[in-house]
Amino acid sequence: MLAFELERPATLKEALEILSRNGPKTAVKAGGTDLLVWMKKNLVHPELIVDLSLIEELKDISFDPSRGLVIGALATINEVAEHPQAGKFYPALVDAALSHSDFVMRNKATVVGNLCSAVPSGDMIAPCCVYDGVMHMSGPAGERKVPIMDFITGPRKNILQKGEIAKAVELPVLKGHSAGRYLKLGRRNALDLAQVGVACVITDTPSGREYRLSFAAVTPRPVRAKVAEDLLRGVASPDESLLEKVAEAAMGCVDPITDVRASREYRVSMVGELTKKALRESLERF
Ligand SMILES: Cc1cc2nc3c(=O)[nH]c(=O)nc-3n(C[C@H](O)[C@H](O)[C@H](O)COP(=O)(O)OP(=O)(O)OC[C@H]3O[C@@H](n4cnc5c(N)ncnc54)[C@H](O)[C@@H]3O)c2cc1C
Repeated sequence: MLAFELERPATLKEALEILSRNGPKTAVKAGGTDLLVWMKKNLVHPELIVDLSLIEELKDISFDPSRGLVIGALATINEVAEHPQAGKFYPALVDAALSHSDFVMRNKATVVGNLCSAVPSGDMIAPCCVYDGVMHMSGPAGERKVPIMDFITGPRKNILQKGEIAKAVELPVLKGHSAGRYLKLGRRNALDLAQVGVACVITDTPSGREYRLSFAAVTPRPVRAKVAEDLLRGVASPDESLLEKVAEAAMGCVDPITDVRASREYRVSMVGELTKKALRESLERF
């Protein structure tokens, strides 16, 4: 790891000022569980790290029944897993949080950091997509917000511009009674990245039952399984033959790679199996 300078601003304003004064070799750090690993592996070489961890205004998780859940950039994965309204209204997010690494790592790792890392196996990405998550950002050009589906543009790529900080991710309130599930397949039960992940949300909206599906580790950027979702729309309880068609449709919208964790073929087949299981278990929770 090469030498670097460290700044620990106490406010977001100060952090933005430091970023505006410094060049491209500046990195923002939240929990540091990705950034420090990448530095040790010589994948990134920042000359200055702006550590956000003292900024109180980024630590909040808030829930408002008319707005939804807002998760600040420093809220840890454990804090989300333990948040009562997250558990009640966003169960697929809490499943994903509990599937992330282990208890000790989850005390450091943040949800927003996971989204900024934009690694395709990131466990928080698919749940944030099925809950229509929106990233709030602050930078030299002011404030902006972008859906997570558009925030992540490819493996380890996001739309953050130079000098910009992700402030929070907002999950809007659901339009009716809802249930959900995130299932993760890994080689071990802890401290392993997903071979495949499936997030599912079912909601009874005023216009009928609606299903949303998204995946981890099988697409270079976030996708929603629109064809599969359309097959299910309005169906109260899908039978096995419909679940098979939905699984086929889900398998048709992923494009995984073969790597040390799993082959492409295995991943595609597991997308089908986990999609059916996630749907069945979401319906049981309904
Ligand atoms: C042992 C181990 C096990 C792991 N297990 C899992 C797992 O099971 N599932 C999983 O998904 N991940 C896993 N990870 C990866 C990592 O823990 C997560 O991606 C984590 O959620 C990242 O959050 P962080 O706060 O640590 O991010 P950091 O490391 O602080 O930052 C990650 C990246 O995002 C940028 N960034 C962070 N916050 C902001 C911000 N507010 N504004 C702008 N840019 C920002 C940083 O500059 C950096 O590029 C594991 C890592 C390790 C080391």
